[in-house]
Amino acid sequence: MPITVVGSIAYDTVKTPFGARERMLGGAAVHFALAASFFDDVRVVGPVGDDFGEAQLEVMSRRGVDVSAIERVAGGRTFFWQGEYGWDLNSRETLDTQLGVFEGFEPKLTPAALASDVLFLANIQPDLQRDVRAQLPDARFVALDSMNLWIDIARDSLVAAIVSVECVSLNDAELRQLTGKPNLIGAAREVLSWKPAPGAPGRGPSVVVAKQGEYGAALVTSESFFALPAYPLEKVVDPTGAGDTFAGGLVGYIAAHPGEELSDELLRRAMAHATVLASFNVEEFGTERIERLEGPEIGARIEQLHAMTQFSGAQLALRG
Ligand code: AMP
Repeated sequence: MPITVVGSIAYDTVKTPFGARERMLGGAAVHFALAASFFDDVRVVGPVGDDFGEAQLEVMSRRGVDVSAIERVAGGRTFFWQGEYGWDLNSRETLDTQLGVFEGFEPKLTPAALASDVLFLANIQPDLQRDVRAQLPDARFVALDSMNLWIDIARDSLVAAIVSVECVSLNDAELRQLTGKPNLIGAAREVLSWKPAPGAPGRGPSVVVAKQGEYGAALVTSESFFALPAYPLEKVVDPTGAGDTFAGGLVGYIAAHPGEELSDELLRRAMAHATVLASFNVEEFGTERIERLEGPEIGARIEQLHAMTQFSGAQLALRG
């Protein structure tokens, strides 16, 4: 099922202990789209400024991503984000965020984007996420990602966006911050209990994905729990966009299996593909590794991840 994604299309300036890049291609929607393009058709919705290069658009179109709903705003500046990571890459400081063309942006979706069955509301102002959600009232599967900034400055709008989707993907710290609950499972179940107001789109979330960086990710529904470790890598260079790449793998895999109901079984396989896609993303800066990634490399890592997360079902003879 074709996927539409709305979210930041950005220039990122990033410093990690392993190097630095100035104004490289980034943005939540870009990382998502590149990952999801391994599974299904993807259309990106969002604005860029005059400063956005053709070469950056080509990174997406080379992977078959439909960029025709990316709007170039004359005289505008592309979204810009600058961040720096600590020595173990677990902490990140945002040094600058410039919304640029996203300020006051009114999304106009192309007919192809409007016809998508699957919608991903990647990280951006929640008002904008809700605007796009309202334009696709009949989408069959809608997922959303966000971040601490929007919990801080636009919580009510973010909650309204969350109750309009099936699947919410957040970092564990963001889930705790959003709900005020210190326990991760408690926080996830709280989000699962939220329902839209009568007449508002959606039925409320039924799946929460809690991303835990180098420790992997957990999937919580009202009846079940599943978790996978991150794929073990000896060298991580730049975690920027890992969460969006993870979401691209997850949503892309679900979109590519339209005949299947959203069972635990399907969600678990989607989590494995998300984990593997994210593992490639962090091996190099920005989109560099995913741009060169090939399908068989994904397949090989899926098999390895499968092997390393198995254990025998035999019961131990316990004392006492
Ligand atoms: P992640 O590492 O998964 O949190 O995603 C990082 C990406 O999100 C970068 O490519 C940034 O351009 C983008 N980003 C950072 N801050 C924001 C924000 N406030 N709104 C939207 N996108 C952002």
